[in-house]
Amino acid sequence: MKNPFLVVIYTFLVIIVLPVILTIGMYKDDIFQKKVVQTKKTNSINIKVYNTKTDKVEDMDIEEYLYNVVASEMPASFDQEALKAQAIAARSYVFHKIESGGDKIPQHKGAVVCTDHRHCQEYLDTKTLEKLHNKKWMNESFSKIKKAVDDTKGMVLMFEARTIQPLYHSTSGGKTENSEEVFSSSLPYLRSVDSPYEQESPKFRANMKISKNDFINKFKGIGIVLSDDIDKDIEVISRSEGGSVKEIRVGKSVIKGSKVRSILGLNSSDFNIKVDKNFVNILTKGYGHGVGMSQWGANGMAHKGYKYDEILKHYFKGVSIENKY
Ligand SMILES: [Zn+2]
Repeated sequence: MKNPFLVVIYTFLVIIVLPVILTIGMYKDDIFQKKVVQTKKTNSINIKVYNTKTDKVEDMDIEEYLYNVVASEMPASFDQEALKAQAIAARSYVFHKIESGGDKIPQHKGAVVCTDHRHCQEYLDTKTLEKLHNKKWMNESFSKIKKAVDDTKGMVLMFEARTIQPLYHSTSGGKTENSEEVFSSSLPYLRSVDSPYEQESPKFRANMKISKNDFINKFKGIGIVLSDDIDKDIEVISRSEGGSVKEIRVGKSVIKGSKVRSILGLNSSDFNIKVDKNFVNILTKGYGHGVGMSQWGANGMAHKGYKYDEILKHYFKGVSIENKY
């Protein structure tokens, strides 16, 4: 490069023009990434979740929160349509809490939901899920769950312009329960319906066998005295439409079937008691409270070819599926 003019041009290009071009390029990438993040955020919402394990209120994208709820509430091995039904039910739960003042509940510390399954829906964080399962599960099964949430993004269950209270349970035992026969309020969409395809559930039927003495002692613990002739001291007085024991006479006391369930640690309140010479046999149907969607029933319906909307509309009477965002 002997021409001094060309040297000046070349130097100008390398020192001034090239860095400017590179900077503009990087800036463009930056702007593009920001737009992607913003677009994603405007298509979703953030919610406050009270993590009962860390005692902290966390700000979460609702869809990200739902990935972990569905992973904690339903086996990933379930059919994709059942997982989608579960994702919509879990999302509806959050909106029901938003609309009914979940943030005013004292134990939520200002959040709309908490992570405790005994109070709200089960939420295990990703680190806990990693520990619980293996890498293959995180790669394959967790991705399958995320897809079920993504494919139903924004969808919730509505009844008369309000998000429903989407109760669900493991296994109904063949028929679900009317809400008022298990909880206090009667809700028009939580009606007793047949749940015909849940025989694959490991808790579809269960049999508990305990000695007569143990049986008598368990009731003695709450002040109910039983004679040795247990058969005569136990009498089911009434059952719900779904088959659960509503009232039962035990000795001289009349108590709720749900009370017997908790005393004996039964899978459900749908039970039959048979007494033989030395033992008491208790046959239970299903697992859980029996109201709303049966998860194993949903999986059974999916195996029969039903889609997520058909599954949800079977278990929740008269509802519609609508998009919140
Ligand atoms: Zn809660």
